[in-house]
Amino acid sequence: RKEVGYITVGSEPFNELIGGGIETQSITEVFGEFGSGKSQVSHELAVTVQLPEEQGGLDAECVFIDTENTFRPERIEQIASAFGLDHQEVLQKIHIARAFNSAHQILMAEKVNELIQSGSNIKLVIVDSLMAHFRAEYIGRESLATRQQKLNQHLHTLQNIATTYNVAIFLTNQVQARPDAFFGSPTKAIGGHVLGHASTYRIWLKKGLAGKRIARLVDSPHLPEGECVFKITADGIVD
Ligand code: ADP
Repeated sequence: RKEVGYITVGSEPFNELIGGGIETQSITEVFGEFGSGKSQVSHELAVTVQLPEEQGGLDAECVFIDTENTFRPERIEQIASAFGLDHQEVLQKIHIARAFNSAHQILMAEKVNELIQSGSNIKLVIVDSLMAHFRAEYIGRESLATRQQKLNQHLHTLQNIATTYNVAIFLTNQVQARPDAFFGSPTKAIGGHVLGHASTYRIWLKKGLAGKRIARLVDSPHLPEGECVFKITADGIVD
């Protein structure tokens, strides 16, 4: 069994909250309202996974499955420059996959296997956002079972990539600001037996005062619940 790797989210308190960074062999789900910072954290990780290990990266490439056209190369350039990286090289190591519908999204995840087998050093797969297409396409109660079945298939593919190739999976999930948002987790819904032995981390992002953000860890398999404050700046995620 390969050693678990950690990818820095750019902020030390945030890293500590989640046990040292985003883990390989695991699925991390970040959920929150529109504008809470889910895409920003995704962009940050697409850069930091490329850093050498001593700087909190895995010296590796990533796949960014973009379902809502939220990927912004100019944002990557800013964050890469803040780390002193060549932004063109950084962009080349981000494999963008634009998913036009849920079936395409499922296919894109399956293709990651081929990409890795052909020699790409992928250590992170981002899906931003996991649910948008599924929610738009499967409307109404009668389609819920089908939606969940398709979603399970997708998560299972991602889970297999995580454990087979020692890859971190990072999913974003938009939720309303209701207290029952807690129960809207796609990864929680499918439970332990589908996800197998890999752990699932869930992080709730909230807007704080004065442009700050709050990250709250919920339902971690072995870490205490807790929260931390971080900021989104031109340079990316900071303390
Ligand atoms: P979500 O994906 O959760 O809907 P985003 O990750 O797109 O939200 O977050 C958008 C927010 O991130 C913006 O409202 C802004 O507060 C912040 N943000 C984005 N880019 C920058 C930047 N260059 N400098 C500072 N803050 C930024």
